[in-house]
Amino acid sequence: MMSIGRRVGFADMTAMSEIDEIGINQNLNVRYNSDIIYTYTGSILLAVNPYKTINIFNKQTISEYHMCKLGDLSPHVFAVAEAAYTSIVDDNINQACVISGESGAGKTESTKFILQYLCTITSNVSSWVQQQILEANTILEAFGNAKTTRNDNSSRFGKFMQVCFDDNNCIKGCVILDYLLEQSRITFQSVGERNYHIMYQLVAQGQKNIGIAKSFHLRPPEFYKYLNTSNSEKINMNIESKKFDAVTMAFTVLQIPQFVIDGVFKVLSSILWLGNIEFIDVDGEVTDFSRSDQEAISIISNLLGLSRCDFKNVLLIRQINVRGNITEIPLKIKEALENRHALAKALYSKTFTWLVSKINNCTNPGQDDAKFLGVLDIFGFENFSHNSFEQLCINYTNEKLHKFFNHYVFALEQSIYEHEGIHFNHVEFTDNTPCLELLEKPPRCVFKLLTEQCHMPKGSDSAFLSNMHTEFESHLNYIKGSDRRHWKTEFGIKHYAGLVIYAVGGFVEKNRDVQQDVMFEYMSCSKDVFIKDLSKYQDIQFINSSYPRGSSKSKCTVSDNFRHQLQSLIDVLQNTKPWYVRCIKPNLQKRPNNYNSSLVLDQLKYLGVVDIIRIRREGFPIHFSHEDFEVKYKCLIKNKSFEHPQKYLTNILEKSGMPPTEWQIGKTKIFLRNAAYELLETNRKDKI
Ligand code: ADP
Ligand code: MG
Repeated sequence: MMSIGRRVGFADMTAMSEIDEIGINQNLNVRYNSDIIYTYTGSILLAVNPYKTINIFNKQTISEYHMCKLGDLSPHVFAVAEAAYTSIVDDNINQACVISGESGAGKTESTKFILQYLCTITSNVSSWVQQQILEANTILEAFGNAKTTRNDNSSRFGKFMQVCFDDNNCIKGCVILDYLLEQSRITFQSVGERNYHIMYQLVAQGQKNIGIAKSFHLRPPEFYKYLNTSNSEKINMNIESKKFDAVTMAFTVLQIPQFVIDGVFKVLSSILWLGNIEFIDVDGEVTDFSRSDQEAISIISNLLGLSRCDFKNVLLIRQINVRGNITEIPLKIKEALENRHALAKALYSKTFTWLVSKINNCTNPGQDDAKFLGVLDIFGFENFSHNSFEQLCINYTNEKLHKFFNHYVFALEQSIYEHEGIHFNHVEFTDNTPCLELLEKPPRCVFKLLTEQCHMPKGSDSAFLSNMHTEFESHLNYIKGSDRRHWKTEFGIKHYAGLVIYAVGGFVEKNRDVQQDVMFEYMSCSKDVFIKDLSKYQDIQFINSSYPRGSSKSKCTVSDNFRHQLQSLIDVLQNTKPWYVRCIKPNLQKRPNNYNSSLVLDQLKYLGVVDIIRIRREGFPIHFSHEDFEVKYKCLIKNKSFEHPQKYLTNILEKSGMPPTEWQIGKTKIFLRNAAYELLETNRKDKI
């Protein structure tokens, strides 16, 4: 076997007697230096991104791990996949692999390895389903991933893929749930970042194939504002167009009809054209199109199958409903420009969720009670120099998952104590419930105050902020901003992973449902069958999440929807057996052979690895097998020929003069608190 069998450092860090942050970090470092990227902490897998090809993901490795217990072979993501699969077969309970880590840490790659593993070990029956599951990923990545400064292939949405099994434990299908696609990227990208991959793939294909360019009115990439908001790097047309072929191939495997595929590309092309509309200011109140806009207008209305007149209305006029009377108010130029961006975003995100539902139509086994193994690949904790609504939602997700994780780790440690038959007092640990309550607990919490503003006609960011400042003034997880000068623009939340300062500007607008109802109403009369269908599409995940009747006629806000979605995810997870893969990014430069200890340490903290240690410390952190303990400490007593081994061990411990609260003898292990361990060590060193 390759590097799989080599022994470097500790493969399972719970076997380390002196377990602390520095020790863990060094252990990971030593292993990483030998290209061993996986390490266990109990059954939790830590994975350090190698940023280079390591030959441990081939078919042969898969067959080596198949039928092996976790821990029999070197740590590997395949071992976790195998353990979860075995548990489905043996215990008949649903499983969830929760993959976490910051952007670029390797979550999506790990997810793919798990899917690849499952598809390979079960593939002799119906390889068509397996193929569809893998190709679903090709589509999701093209539409939901983009280059960012942190990751060239960064997923800009969260996903939970439930792989379903039949009674013979063969893969039957798959159900995908998607979370919070980033929308701002469609109309704006920062320096060094790009729009979604599919945009470049489509445009590149247009450059190669005149037929495609004509049908979808495609121009070279330099032409589009939405592809050039930052001076991004050169696009490799060849690579992009090859990827385009892979996407169309994936569509075919998923049995998406050609007219639908064409429809999707028409929408994408319309979005790109929308970005080029410039508008002119007529008199400060009314806006019109510039002469050069005429081409874009006729192309977009043509692509979307709308009348030019309807489409102009959508772009230049706002309809407001005053007590049942619809009034039309012309948009000022600034509003028209913004409204156009909102349209582009709404079109893209609707297409994305629609695509996910189409994939599900094809891969869903259509049986609600099928057993599943879910893989959760979701955004990690974020703390940037500027944090906004998106970061709050992301960090809220991580708080929720962290609470779930804490509970798991805590329960795990207690189950060891129970298994070993030792007495333990309730182990205290500081949990993150107060922070979660600040964010989500009715009646007065951050999300409720935000939604309240969104439902007021004149709701504003500053009113939201000052309400929060008053309401949460004394909350231990809340601060009014980084310093006094910023109290009018910021608020801070002390998350489990650290303090994050949020800039309040834009919160209310971002949280308002930006669904462009008027636009979709016009689209529902489109001449194009696909566009018509798309306009009527409603995300089922949201249909049930509207307000209880009578409480408010207002629509759900973005955060309302997200909260419901997240809660139902947690509800699902609570009924599964969880497996954890914690991904770690060794450096910020995406380089191989480069381990930045302090960067890793930060991640160990917020991935909860340090929490595992803390929880252990608060209980009995040091575990020895009876044999190891005896070998190490028999020097502490004179009479070495005790009849009963248990007595022998007790004798060593009692002789050391420690109170019995500091140690316990279990069925196979000795449990020590730190003070006890240190005393034993001092005594031992004195003897030798
Ligand atoms: P995340 O989903 O956590 O943002 P990705 O899974 O997209 O991160 O990984 C980012 C990049 O890191 C990948 O595109 C790949 O180049 C590299 N990478 C991640 N995991 C591995 C691995 N096991 N082997 C080699 N390269 C990897
Ligand atoms: Mg990813």
